[in-house]
Amino acid sequence: MAKNTVNKEELSVEDKLRSLHKLQQIDSQTDEIRKLRGELPLEVEDLEDEVAGLQTRIAKYDEELKENTASIAAKKNEIQEHQTLIEKYTKQQDNVRKKKDTLKEAKAQLKEKTGLLKEKKAELKALVAETAKEEEKLMKESNLLLADLDENLGTAYQRIRKNARNGLAVRIRKNARNGLAVVTVNRDACGGCFNKIPPQRQLDIRARKKIIVCEHCGRILVDKYINETDNTQELKDLEAAKQKKKRTVRKKVKKEA
Ligand SMILES: [Zn+2]
Repeated sequence: MAKNTVNKEELSVEDKLRSLHKLQQIDSQTDEIRKLRGELPLEVEDLEDEVAGLQTRIAKYDEELKENTASIAAKKNEIQEHQTLIEKYTKQQDNVRKKKDTLKEAKAQLKEKTGLLKEKKAELKALVAETAKEEEKLMKESNLLLADLDENLGTAYQRIRKNARNGLAVRIRKNARNGLAVVTVNRDACGGCFNKIPPQRQLDIRARKKIIVCEHCGRILVDKYINETDNTQELKDLEAAKQKKKRTVRKKVKKEA
C-alpha cells in the first residue's frame, strides 16, 4: 500500500476502482465479524452496569448491617440493664408482699387482743364492783388494827409487808412476793422463807414475850396457835409429837439390837 500512496498521482482509474473494491471487501469482513458478536457487547455493557449497581447496593447493605449490629449490641445492653431492674423490682415486690402479710397478721392480732382486753376490762369491772364492799370493810378493819398497834411496830409491819410484796429487800428473795409480814412457824421452819428455826428460838416465839423476826427473811414470827382461844389443840399436838418420838426411839433400839 505504501507503494500505492507514493505513486498517488500516477494511479489510474482502474487502480482506484480496484482499491475501492478491496476496501469494501475488508470492511464487509469486519461487518461480518461484528455481526457474529451479535448482542453480546450490549449484554456485557448491561451486565457491567448491573454489577456496578449491585456493588453499590451491597456496600450500602454492608454499611446498614454494621449500623444494625451496633444498634443490636446497644439494645442487648439495654435488655441486660432492664433484666437487672426487673429482678430488683421483683425482689422489692416480694418484700412489699411480705410486709403486707405481716401487717395483716398484726392487724388480726390487734383485733383479737382488743376484743380480749374489752372482755377482761368488763370482767375486772364486775369483779371490783362485786368485791368493793368487802374490800372497804377489810381496809377499815386493817386501819383500826394498825391504829391500835404501837407506832414502831405498825411502821415495821408495813415496811416488811411492802418489801415482801415487791421483793425489794435483800434478805427477802425466794417466795418473797406474797405480801406476808407476819408468818407462823410450821414444821420447825419459817412460814415465809422456809428456813429452819433453832429450838431455843422456837421456845422464845411460843413464849410470846418478845417480837421475834426470822433471821433469814426478817418477817415477824408467831406460833401457829396464836389465834386459839384455849390450848386444847396445842396440847393434842404436843402429845402426838411425844408418841412419834417414842416410836422413833423404839425403832432405833430395834435396829441397834
Ligand atoms: Zn424467814
